[in-house]
Amino acid sequence: MDGSKLHVAILVSPGMGHLIPVLVLANRLATHHRVKVTVLVVTTVFSPPECQLLKLPAEQNPVDIIELPPVDISHLVKPDTKVGTQLCMMVREALPGFRSPISAMNHRPDALIVDLFCTEALPIAAEFNMAKYVYVPTTAWFTALTLYCPVLDKEIDGQYVDQEDLLKIPGCKPVRPEDVVDPMLDRNDQYYYEYVSMGNRIPQYDGILLNTWEDLDSTTLKAFKENEIWRSMVKIPVYPIGPLRRPAQPDGSKSAVIEWLDKQPNESVIFVSFGSGGMLSAQQITELATGLELSEQRFIWVVRPPMKGAADDAFFTTKTADSDDTSHYLPEGFLTRTESLGLLVPTWAQQVEILEHPSVGGFMSHCGWNSTIESICSGVPMIAWPLYAEQRLNATYLVEELGIAVRPRVLPTKEVVAREEIENMLRTLMDEKEGKKMRENVKKLKISAENALSEGGSSYNSMLEMLKHVTTNLKASEHC
Ligand code: UDP
Repeated sequence: MDGSKLHVAILVSPGMGHLIPVLVLANRLATHHRVKVTVLVVTTVFSPPECQLLKLPAEQNPVDIIELPPVDISHLVKPDTKVGTQLCMMVREALPGFRSPISAMNHRPDALIVDLFCTEALPIAAEFNMAKYVYVPTTAWFTALTLYCPVLDKEIDGQYVDQEDLLKIPGCKPVRPEDVVDPMLDRNDQYYYEYVSMGNRIPQYDGILLNTWEDLDSTTLKAFKENEIWRSMVKIPVYPIGPLRRPAQPDGSKSAVIEWLDKQPNESVIFVSFGSGGMLSAQQITELATGLELSEQRFIWVVRPPMKGAADDAFFTTKTADSDDTSHYLPEGFLTRTESLGLLVPTWAQQVEILEHPSVGGFMSHCGWNSTIESICSGVPMIAWPLYAEQRLNATYLVEELGIAVRPRVLPTKEVVAREEIENMLRTLMDEKEGKKMRENVKKLKISAENALSEGGSSYNSMLEMLKHVTTNLKASEHC
């Protein structure tokens, strides 16, 4: 379907992990479906990579971007306020400022897509008569847990992490108590309340878009369609439209990292990076450095200084490192000893470009969903090292359902992963024999991802259905 007459507004909360998938979705709607797209961004003090993303030259960015007036939540934040709660607060404060740019538009948006942290925009969508959709930039399994959490809230007493039994979700893979998403870790925290509210609000939208695809998430997607409990709980359509991921952006000149990769053998390098916000403790950094050294594998490691607070501390502050002087936190002599095998990149690297390079053969990742699909789409198997958000669920899925990753025996958020285990995982992943099955599986998934997105593929068709849904809604409201 040609969406050229449609105008879709997308409201997005702060943070690279949110902004990246939304901009990719916006670009896809604009370039593949000729929809006019306006992205409205809840602003905070932007980090350099975010600024770069938002200020792309027009030819690279076929969508309009409006930055909402920056919000100040300093009076609401306490020392222990979780990052997720802060995101909800920022969006809540920013929402009144969302009306005036919408009112000022000559061609008012026909539909509003919000990210998970912006679901409180529901009344504004109604006020402006826009069809409304939630974009969950991760798996159907995570979405099922989010939608089912209000039920679990009534059924289960005590903390989820203390349960002895698996958490059952109709028609879906059950969730291990230790794998629950961050907001479910403490039922007394405000973040839990915010999360349950999200789960209650989502079914009031007109549809749910997911950054996944049929082959990857078939069990849960089937449950949404066929399971009676789901059919009565969530009466809106679910559109798996992924994997939407940021394309590599070659800027003409090769970076030093890519030049280094050019000199390495095929599939020989492991890329180590923990997303936009991931931080490790000082002790864990030492173990990781030593494990890398013991494994004798080639590596690129995006290093950050040790965390001072939570594992997602860098979420709002990813920027040039406080100190690029790694000698403060890496084992003495590490740089010299690994000089011939490894490369350190402080704080931020061109992840997609690195993963796509033929010399990269493995990815040690925190399993953020963007990173995960970037790895899958590059055909690179993983070491799953979950840190925060829904990453424990993702890690379990990658290891148990998809067979494309190994993971430590301990949860990295609870215990330090020892150097010997790190060495073992690196060897297993990179070993021609042991890593073979994972490599084969991820390459099959890469192909299935390409098929899903190509014209006539499941995700392509799903996007068309969503646009048809918007048009039908539009016609229905014109007749009212
Ligand atoms: N990213 C990057 N360079 C880095 C770290 C992260 O380009 O050094 C990008 C990565 O490619 C991905 C996003 O930032 O697109 C991180 O999103 P993800 O969902 O993996 O994790 P989050 O940062 O939200 O925890």
